[in-house]
Amino acid sequence: MPKPITFKPGSKINLEEIPTRVEQDEFNKSSAREKLESNAEEMADLARCLFAENKRAILLVLQGMDTAGKDGTIGAVMRGMNPRSCQVVSFKVPSEQEADHDFLWRVHQVVPRMGNIGIFNRSHYEDVLVVRVQELVPPDIWKGRFELINDFEKILRQCGTIIVKCFLHISKDEQRQRLQARIDEPHSRWKFNPGDLEQRKRWSDYQAAYREALIKCNTKYAPWYIIPSDQKWYRNLVVSNLMLDTMKELNPKYPTVAEDYSGLVIE
Ligand code: ADP
Repeated sequence: MPKPITFKPGSKINLEEIPTRVEQDEFNKSSAREKLESNAEEMADLARCLFAENKRAILLVLQGMDTAGKDGTIGAVMRGMNPRSCQVVSFKVPSEQEADHDFLWRVHQVVPRMGNIGIFNRSHYEDVLVVRVQELVPPDIWKGRFELINDFEKILRQCGTIIVKCFLHISKDEQRQRLQARIDEPHSRWKFNPGDLEQRKRWSDYQAAYREALIKCNTKYAPWYIIPSDQKWYRNLVVSNLMLDTMKELNPKYPTVAEDYSGLVIE
């Protein structure tokens, strides 16, 4: 079964050596779609139970270079979920009010409440990625943030939130093709942002920033998962399997009712 790439807390990785595309025989595009459907059904049942139980939450963090497919992953993996208990939060350039607080202030306010599944489309990791590459704060500030992020995630975990952090790993050439497609395909043109070309020029700086964030914030209680993402269907399948496994392992339980109403007939 396609699974994400993991590595031990404290160990080092080199992103250039980690594949962005995985050759395997078990699934193809169409069988992956069927598996996504059946996963979605199972996840919807488990999410209903998680909501009823109201004791734990799941936070899915999605990070990746531009065009890595954060939006596509959310659409594919979370379909079938009841929006009542599943919320997506996208992190943009901080507002004036957000920028006037510590960098985790805006994040903590929007973590999922108990019983819910929250998805972060970008996250607090931007504060050690774009902020570092664009030199928005001095190095001694962003360098101190890895520890703060680990502490923050520890608080969430200890208070009942399971954190699933996915790095959608694409190659530079795949990004080129996807950006080109945004220009060439009329229905995708709205997605093209010339600013993405500036970011692309800093590709290796971003990879270095990602590498350090992945290594320094790969903890036992909030591990990173690397998702080979050059093939969209494979990426979706891996994240979907990961979410389903996480929910199964949580094994939520419907609350037991205080009084037994069995046999009661409503008139
Ligand atoms: P997306 O690319 O996620 O689809 P946008 O095109 O609106 O959405 O981009 C959001 C932008 O906000 C990204 O360029 C991202 O790097 C930036 N951003 C997010 N968080 C921060 C932050 N803390 N500081 C500076 N920029 C940020």
